[in-house]
Amino acid sequence: MPVPAHDMTDTPIHYRLAPIDLAGHRCEVTLTIDNPAPDGQIVSLPAWIPGSYLIREFARQIERIEARCGRRKVALTKLDKHSWHAAPCRGALTITCVIYAWDLSVRAAHLDETHGFFNGTSLFLRVHGQEHLPCLLELVEPDSRQIAHGPWRVYTSLPEARGVAGAARRHGFGLYRAPDYDALLDHPIEMGTPQVASFTAHGAEHEMVFTGIVPGLDLARIVSDCQRICEAQIAFFEPRTRRAPFLDSAERYVFMTLVTGDGYGGLEHRASTALMTSRNDLPVIGNPEQTDGYRGFLGLVSHEYFHTWNVKRIKPAAFAPYDLARENYTRLLWVFEGFTSFYDDVFLLRAGVIDRKAYLKLLARTVAAVERGPGRLKQSVAESSFDAWSRYYRQDENSPNAIVSYYTKGSLAALGLDITIRNGSAGKRSLDDVMRLMWRTYGRDFYQGRMQGVAEHEFAELILEATGVDASEFIARYVDGREDVPVRELLATQGIRTQPAKPGLSPSLDVRLRAQGSDVVLATVYEGGAAHRGGLSALDVLLAIDGLRVGTPAAVDALLARYRPGQIVRIHAFRRDELREYRVRLAEPAEGEPVFFAG
Ligand SMILES: [Zn+2]
Repeated sequence: MPVPAHDMTDTPIHYRLAPIDLAGHRCEVTLTIDNPAPDGQIVSLPAWIPGSYLIREFARQIERIEARCGRRKVALTKLDKHSWHAAPCRGALTITCVIYAWDLSVRAAHLDETHGFFNGTSLFLRVHGQEHLPCLLELVEPDSRQIAHGPWRVYTSLPEARGVAGAARRHGFGLYRAPDYDALLDHPIEMGTPQVASFTAHGAEHEMVFTGIVPGLDLARIVSDCQRICEAQIAFFEPRTRRAPFLDSAERYVFMTLVTGDGYGGLEHRASTALMTSRNDLPVIGNPEQTDGYRGFLGLVSHEYFHTWNVKRIKPAAFAPYDLARENYTRLLWVFEGFTSFYDDVFLLRAGVIDRKAYLKLLARTVAAVERGPGRLKQSVAESSFDAWSRYYRQDENSPNAIVSYYTKGSLAALGLDITIRNGSAGKRSLDDVMRLMWRTYGRDFYQGRMQGVAEHEFAELILEATGVDASEFIARYVDGREDVPVRELLATQGIRTQPAKPGLSPSLDVRLRAQGSDVVLATVYEGGAAHRGGLSALDVLLAIDGLRVGTPAAVDALLARYRPGQIVRIHAFRRDELREYRVRLAEPAEGEPVFFAG
């Protein structure tokens, strides 16, 4: 039902989202600007979505766009790949877009007869010069003949437009309200018929929404585990008040999870998160086993929830505010992603969801992942942060040789700083104190008009202020420099010992293999390794070793187990469609994960 215009006079910008063609994945978004700029109004769609540092050019999914001034059509001139200029209009200017929404990820929009998932960055044009103004969003229910099951309900942390005619009720279609454009973009919307559960953590409401077919989903178990994680994190940042951070923007926090066969990922928002997970990773009613997959799902929940503080409110200065038209460069993603990766597992432990042994196993896996990549010796985590846009988010077959992950090495830097601070303060201080200082200084009032972020070179000073420990040498060597964080030595000071990795059984080609149809492809050839020295290249198709066909990565391993390191094998491979032959001297078996244990 259309909403009468006179009800919306205090909010001069209105958006209307209507799913119009579910089978064709199209929605119509109408933007009405009550007071367009007198010399013509510029509008644009973001080029990227905060939290995912890649230029995605969402405007390429706009199929049709037109502008009207009252009933009159007005000229719309395209200025660049994502901006338009509407000719001057006295009175309200209306811009209507038809947008294609068929991106199965947490980053864009996805619509079919079973559900709709929408990020504002894919839908809502920015009104240049009026970004600070409040706006209304009307969500329109799809035609019941187009949906598979109904009725659909709405799940979002965006507040309903209370007190306005046509306001949505909780989970309903109708009007929602955002205090400004930045907020409008930061509350994604799920609509459909998902499985839903809710809980409170220190009095604050949380909702868990699972879209996709999941038989036997053990919601009660998920709720119980997630509640413990959320309570532990809230008490960590606000030990005295235990106030949840999102209450500055919303009444509740929403976990919206899209369940698929093999998905994994998440994107953080100020009062919600969009997750993707594999069906097989979710617990089944009646089976209390804690699988690796379920631990991974809980780690994802913990990670995205920690971002509610660390990156959604404590931010690098480069993100305060975001410039959504272009890359926003910062050398600090090792803090915002790396520390979040460190604390996601730490909070599984502190919440009692996993035990110490399981935690040390996760840590060992991270250490092994970092040490496997020769790229860590070529790029620092500060450089990796800066280059996220062109390198970390655009990985190829050579990435392990060329770059380091600010997630994994960033989390080891966090661990190293934590232990360095503990040792330097006779156990009185830790990285926790640094997080809480950043929260008080930058995070707590971020959306209350104190929009200020952490400066690029401020981090050592923050540590000194919070703990009295000078970590500048640590940062120079392991963050700005490319040295390996001495994890084993540092853990030993905390009474945690290390057993060397148990090597695998088969001598190694020093490659990462990938099955591709019935072929085995060299996904990565590690620099300086056996295959590299023998002349093989990434993307070569491995056919036979000493004349024996290899059909799967497991078959390669099984065959190599018949050899010893140092032996030379004859390898046939296709490069493009040309058959080649190489002689490769086999290397020592690849190192497995180290084992960390207390005592
Ligand atoms: Zn993250």
